[in-house]
Amino acid sequence: MELVVHKYGGSSVADAQKIENVARRIGKVKESGQSIVAVASAMGDTTDELIDLAHTVAADPDPRELDLLLSTGELVSCTLLTMALRNLGYDAITLSGFQAGIRTDDMYGKARIFSIEPGRVQSELSEGKVVIVAGFQGITEDLDITTLGRGGSDTTAVALAAALNAERCDIYTDVDGIYTADPRIVPNARKLSEIDYEEMLELASYGAKMHPRSIELGAVNGVPIYVASSFSDSAGTLIHRVDKVNELENRVKVTGIAYQANLAKITVRSLPDRPGIAAALFEPLAARGISVDTIVQNTSLERITDISFTVSRSELTLAFAESQKLLSQLGGTEVISDDTLASVHVVGSGMQNTPGYASRMFRILAEGNINIDMITTSEIRISCIIKEEQVADAVRLLHEGFELGEEN
Ligand code: ASP
Ligand code: MG
Repeated sequence: MELVVHKYGGSSVADAQKIENVARRIGKVKESGQSIVAVASAMGDTTDELIDLAHTVAADPDPRELDLLLSTGELVSCTLLTMALRNLGYDAITLSGFQAGIRTDDMYGKARIFSIEPGRVQSELSEGKVVIVAGFQGITEDLDITTLGRGGSDTTAVALAAALNAERCDIYTDVDGIYTADPRIVPNARKLSEIDYEEMLELASYGAKMHPRSIELGAVNGVPIYVASSFSDSAGTLIHRVDKVNELENRVKVTGIAYQANLAKITVRSLPDRPGIAAALFEPLAARGISVDTIVQNTSLERITDISFTVSRSELTLAFAESQKLLSQLGGTEVISDDTLASVHVVGSGMQNTPGYASRMFRILAEGNINIDMITTSEIRISCIIKEEQVADAVRLLHEGFELGEEN
């Protein structure tokens, strides 16, 4: 029997009526003769509320306890969803991440799934049940509960789809697909009917709301991911392997514009330019679980150089303190920071080997009087760090400049 995996985001299960709506949608799939596993996020803003609650009793909540607390959000939504399904006459069962065999490392708050033992899910499916799996959570070898990072239910769903050999993983949310830019900023943004994993990974890492790890897992395991709205039946976006060989010629070169707000930059000044300095700076940061994004090292003058890097603003305090601690050992003079930054990204696999895209991006930003703080590129992405107050303008100007909008 064909198996599909669905995922429903927090806004799709935000109240009793929405949960019933989701239960009906799942019921329809079951009626059509398919087997279904559905992963749900916590109801509405539950995860935010639990985090706030934790901070009312502790300035710096213990990570293990926090993950165990956060994992309850998904248990609430999933058990309610199962009850709603049973109320509609469908045989259904909820499994926590642990019960579903989702094994992770012990990086609390951003754990990575390293394996799934799907035995229990499979045996429930073979009894004809709808299986509802709590998203966003897993279990370590020591039987501690972990969470996968904000938005991590996407990753639970795709990982399960891969482990169960599902046909497809459907991600249902409150937007009806992937757009050329955030439609809240760019009203004429266009919905894409399909997108390649690689491009989606860039968009998801820098803006479009999906857990990037879910795209990586989809790509590695060849799981097509369909993103659509749980509130309508309009067509969504299929993330899959897009055949570039046939399409390259008539392909639009730029696929979308992404952005990321809430960034901060740290600069370590006047470091000696010798082997081992970057490693000595970034290894301890990595060990603290701080994820560093854009890194720029200046050309050294008289063997002295500056290294700047960005982190998410929420990690600035920790990253700054850590860099400060390393300063004398590294031989630098000072650490400075800027917490007013954001990034904007032009993404498109069609840009590979085609010159002129970077300069066009810089020209568009220049004409908008937007100053560029840092620049990085990958084969299919050009990124600029700019002031956060200008990021919406930058997205609009680039979307227009690269002619991505709906023609009307
Ligand atoms: N409930 C978690 C969050 O809000 C996980 C998810 O929504 O995917 O981040
Ligand atoms: Mg959520």
